[in-house]
Amino acid sequence: MGSDAIEVTLTTFNGGRSLGIIHVGQVSAGGRAWRASKVLGMCWSIALVTALIPVAHFVLVPAFLLAGPIAAIAAYARERIVIGGSATCPNCRGAVALRRGSASTGFTQNCPSCRVQLNVAPTSPPWDGGATAP
Ligand SMILES: [Zn+2]
Repeated sequence: MGSDAIEVTLTTFNGGRSLGIIHVGQVSAGGRAWRASKVLGMCWSIALVTALIPVAHFVLVPAFLLAGPIAAIAAYARERIVIGGSATCPNCRGAVALRRGSASTGFTQNCPSCRVQLNVAPTSPPWDGGATAP
C-alpha cells in the first residue's frame, strides 16, 4: 500500500491554527470489504443489544438495522484513508499523532494533552489526486 503525504490544517473552536502532515493510503477492495463487514456487524450487534431496552427498542432496533447497510456502503466507498500523521496542537503546542483510519477528506480529533477538539482538513483543495501541497 503506497501512501501520499498531504499537508493539513488543524483548527480549534477559538480560532487557533497550525499545520500538520497526514499520510494517506489506498485501500484494496478486500480491505474495504472487511471494513464494511465490521461496520455492518457492529451496527447489527448494537441492534441486538438495544432489543433488550424496554420501549426504546421500538426505535433503536429498526434504526440500527437500517443504519448498518448504509454505514457499510459508506465504509466500502472510502478508498483512501489516513494511515498516520503528525501535527502540533494549535492550543497547547503539544505533539498530536493523527488518528489512523480516518476519512482522508477531513476529520475531527481531540488533542491528547489539552483535550480540545481539533478539526483536521487538507490545506490544498485538489486532494483526491494525491498531490502534495506546495
Ligand atoms: Zn492540545
